[in-house]
Amino acid sequence: MNTHGKKYMPVKWFYDYFNPCEAHGHAIKGTIFQTESEIQEISIIETHNYGKCLILDNEFQSAERDEFIYHEALVHPALISHPNPECVAIIGGGEGAALREVLRHKTVKKAVMVDIDKAVIDCARRFLDSFHENAFDDPRVEVQIADGRKYLENSSETFDTIIIDVTVPLESGPSYLLFTKEFYAIVLDRLTDNGILCVQADTTSIIALLSYTSINKTLAQLFSGVYPYVAFIPTYAMLWGFSLATKGLNPHDLSKENVDKKISARIKGELKFYDGITHQALFNIPKYLRKAIKEQTWINRDDKPLKVKYPGMP
Ligand code: SAM
Repeated sequence: MNTHGKKYMPVKWFYDYFNPCEAHGHAIKGTIFQTESEIQEISIIETHNYGKCLILDNEFQSAERDEFIYHEALVHPALISHPNPECVAIIGGGEGAALREVLRHKTVKKAVMVDIDKAVIDCARRFLDSFHENAFDDPRVEVQIADGRKYLENSSETFDTIIIDVTVPLESGPSYLLFTKEFYAIVLDRLTDNGILCVQADTTSIIALLSYTSINKTLAQLFSGVYPYVAFIPTYAMLWGFSLATKGLNPHDLSKENVDKKISARIKGELKFYDGITHQALFNIPKYLRKAIKEQTWINRDDKPLKVKYPGMP
């Protein structure tokens, strides 16, 4: 019998709702851990196809089997585009995988990771070794438990690269004030002269483009160069949005050969997703997305923040 027959059906499913009318189902073996912190609901589920997954407020965050795609896509274009990234900040990134990827860069002397919820980091330390690979304990690392916006606002430190890896701006969540013009102005202030900002910029689903387009438009209010890019994340079942914002550096200036040369000179270990060819593909986004960004007039402001009920949807 083919594997789609009745007998094959596993007993339990986790549905990652994109919106009330669309979801991506993951057959699960069970729930490994569940808790409610002061900030959000945290669970770790074990899926049949993708291994352990982190879920926050019922939103899928990352999965053991394919998180390398998301975290390599999030970290390396920015750090490879920078001439010499020594001091890096990660806002969010609770599972420690973005931090793991930053620490692969031999140029990095200091990495500050600021997450609002200690419970996520504790949970990652207990259950998600393959995500962080003990990155939290690297001597170059400083882990801060704070709201990322408040931290940057009160800091006088400057960074060569700042990576914003917070949850999507759910109206009920802790991150929606980290997608506004006022927040990006704070970030701009915390970047060195040729500093680079990279943000996870929500879904690029054709029916939920508000977040992705408004984030890029809001960045363009402050940064001279804004470079949207996308990567297909299997567990999200869609092209996920990212954006690089710079004060002049342009990731399109990097040839395939140039990227590969920098990777072999700077990065410890073998990357599985990102290289010179991938770099070219990332920054050549589909026509409908470029058009939607161009036509978007909404700017995310503190008094009119991007607050979504579902990823990308008001
Ligand atoms: N890969 C995920 C995605 O694409 O949605 C995000 C990764 S990570 C799990 C998201 C992290 O953002 C969580 O650990 C959460 O605690 C953190 N976070 C949310 N709001 C924050 C804030 N205001 N300041 C700092 N960290 C925040």
